[in-house]
Amino acid sequence: ATRYPRPSKTRFIAVANQKGGVGKTTSTVNVAAALAKAGARVLVIDMDPQGNASTALGVPHGSGQPSVYDVIEGRKGIADIKLPCPDFPTLEVVPSSIDLSGAELELADLPHRNTLLKDALTVFLNGTGDHYDYVFFDCAPSLGLLVLNALCAAHEVMIPIQAEYYALEGLGQLIHTIGLAQSTLNKHLVISTILVTMYDRRTLLSKEVYDEVKEHYPTIVLETTIPRSVRISEAPSFGQTVIAYDPHGAGAVAYREAALEIAQRSEAALQLIQDTKK
Ligand code: ADP
Ligand code: MG
Repeated sequence: ATRYPRPSKTRFIAVANQKGGVGKTTSTVNVAAALAKAGARVLVIDMDPQGNASTALGVPHGSGQPSVYDVIEGRKGIADIKLPCPDFPTLEVVPSSIDLSGAELELADLPHRNTLLKDALTVFLNGTGDHYDYVFFDCAPSLGLLVLNALCAAHEVMIPIQAEYYALEGLGQLIHTIGLAQSTLNKHLVISTILVTMYDRRTLLSKEVYDEVKEHYPTIVLETTIPRSVRISEAPSFGQTVIAYDPHGAGAVAYREAALEIAQRSEAALQLIQDTKK
């Protein structure tokens, strides 16, 4: 397997977009798997009550099963509930559960409600001696409490954008929310990556969407785009990423390329992204 450059310290990446169906989960699990396959130690935290990332990474998740919900509510530590992804020895998953859908309301009155995840992660990373190169947070399609928890715990945001009509609609609002999180909760937060997904080479529209994103966010958008692929969409039904399910197909190739680009973004480049936004 190709060796990608390894970060000198853990990179915490929230994958966010309040639109559903744009490829957040697919991009989280496949970039995470590609990095793990290249030798990185990776933790994926499934922050969506739907649990799609848990499904795609082949770990059990169901109502009543220990999950990130117990972590957020302070009943369990991350060390107690993380599970290995069966396909990749250096990839671990903190599963979600449908019970997490109640958390937004249950926690709304807690003064430290936005840092519950970050605090649990700090306890875990300081306590176990476990080291990760990457920690990914797969966010739900909202801008609610759970997403804010991910934005507090992260240093970077990756925004998947679907190459479709209205692709950029809502992007302004998302960037505004991230800016708000940055100014009030987490001054280290940067938008490090935009990934254009479900790209169709045969349509002018896909190219137009990419060019528009590139024009507005030239340093942030990856050169790699993810093609629309049946293999990508059917992999989760086998409890697998496309990296494991169809390693030589166009989808896996693209996600490995995207992961390499992400790995090559040095801390200096991320600093630059933060500076240019000010
Ligand atoms: P989100 O997490 O943003 O809601 P998903 O990653 O779950 O989005 O993707 C939405 C749907 O589109 C899923 O059914 C997924 O399998 C499918 N999908 C995602 N990326 C691709 C792709 N590149 N080609 C084909 N289908 C895709
Ligand atoms: Mg999702």
